[in-house]
Amino acid sequence: VAHAGRTVGRLGEGDWDGKVSEIKKKIKSILPGTPCDVLPDTSHLPPEHSDVVIVGGGVLGLSVAYWLKKLENRQGGMQVLVVERDHTYSQASTGLSVGGICQQFSLPENIQLSLFSASFLRNINEYLAVTDAPPLDLQFNPSGYLLLASEKDAAAMESNVKVQKQEGAKVCLMSPDQLRNKFPWINTEGVALASYGMENEGWFDPWCLLHGLRQKLASMGVSFCQGEVTRFVTSSQCMLTTDDEMVTLKSIHEVHVKMDHSLEYQPVECAIVINAAGAWSAQIAALAGIGKGPPGTLQGTKLPVEPRKEEEPDPANLEVDHDFFQEKVWPHLALRVPAFETLKVQTAWAGYYDYNTFDQNGVVGPHPLVVNMYFATGFSGHGLQQAPGVGRAVAEMILEGSFQTIDLSPFLFNRFYLGEKTQENNIM
Ligand SMILES: Cc1cc2nc3c(=O)[nH]c(=O)nc-3n(C[C@H](O)[C@H](O)[C@H](O)COP(=O)(O)OP(=O)(O)OC[C@H]3O[C@@H](n4cnc5c(N)ncnc54)[C@H](O)[C@@H]3O)c2cc1C
Repeated sequence: VAHAGRTVGRLGEGDWDGKVSEIKKKIKSILPGTPCDVLPDTSHLPPEHSDVVIVGGGVLGLSVAYWLKKLENRQGGMQVLVVERDHTYSQASTGLSVGGICQQFSLPENIQLSLFSASFLRNINEYLAVTDAPPLDLQFNPSGYLLLASEKDAAAMESNVKVQKQEGAKVCLMSPDQLRNKFPWINTEGVALASYGMENEGWFDPWCLLHGLRQKLASMGVSFCQGEVTRFVTSSQCMLTTDDEMVTLKSIHEVHVKMDHSLEYQPVECAIVINAAGAWSAQIAALAGIGKGPPGTLQGTKLPVEPRKEEEPDPANLEVDHDFFQEKVWPHLALRVPAFETLKVQTAWAGYYDYNTFDQNGVVGPHPLVVNMYFATGFSGHGLQQAPGVGRAVAEMILEGSFQTIDLSPFLFNRFYLGEKTQENNIM
């Protein structure tokens, strides 16, 4: 029975249902009185093979799946499976995020990613429309981000805005007087310069984007499975580098998925694994042996992604630390906007950052040693807004062998080993 169940992936769904009811009829005719459910429902199991297995069904995993299917050469040619352990997304960063988008970064790559996302979000129904489904409404609220700089940081702000404008973002600089005129409720003490986004900034509903992506992916033939990736089966090959250094290259050929509420696991053969496990992506990397070599070597270099920023509350649970707000956040708010002195907190929630402790920028593309693991993680506080462009970049890398639209080479894994930070001055 287990074997019969596992052939689901190879038959069309309609064929399979037909076969099951035929077999049930036969059993009933031979053994009257036997319950018809002797064949267990196996629709929750992943297929035996999938060309690509995506670990994590948050916005980044779904975006990679979307672009793989959209850009594949032959329609229906690539099997893509998304494995998500919690379909309620109770702890996923995507659903717990604020949904903000802005272009006020210092790195051209980050600006380009967020500009592309703004266009993707504005035209969401051109990308994610599904026949017979109502159009998506992302509840986009246009509202510019306002950044303030002291005398010490004013020159850096000016040069950032120059880059932002060169890349096509609509951002303006404001003197303290201009700032006071536009926003009279702000205390401008200590402010030397401000920058303000005039277009493509604001916030939107992350759940709607997640839902739209899932719905579109189902229509594109992407498989979903609720389960936890617990193990990779790999094969290794030793290679000599041009510097006469022996390195071991690994390739994952099987992903083990532990099924929900069960000790059972299902192996899925695959060619490519995408690590899109957000705050948990370092654990997924470690499962593939990443970071498990001698310190100082590429093999020993960990994926530096953790579930929180330094000095933030303990990430052991998602309880709100009200003292943190009271002591660390509120004083700054009240100083800058005196009206906030009398604010009353009405609701609060907590979420995990997919926080890259090395340089707070995303990690994109393949691992140099585990050659078929690709990353789409580590975006810290800006992963939601950059997901559309990142998914496209990872898909390009897989399908074309290089980044085609936005060159995200500064976000490759190698930088952790080389100690070369990709410095972004405006991490929010
Ligand atoms: C409070 C808060 C505010 C934020 N505000 C913004 C903002 O304004 N703008 C912005 O752009 N970004 C914001 N972010 C950041 C943004 O939410 C994240 O960068 C982004 O959602 C990351 O998406 P993801 O798909 O990588 O991760 P997630 O959404 O966390 O998805 C990862 C998924 O992987 C699954 N998973 C993990 N391990 C396994 C496993 N072993 N097997 C199977 N599944 C697994 C998890 O269940 C999870 O659903 C905010 C984050 C927080 C917490």
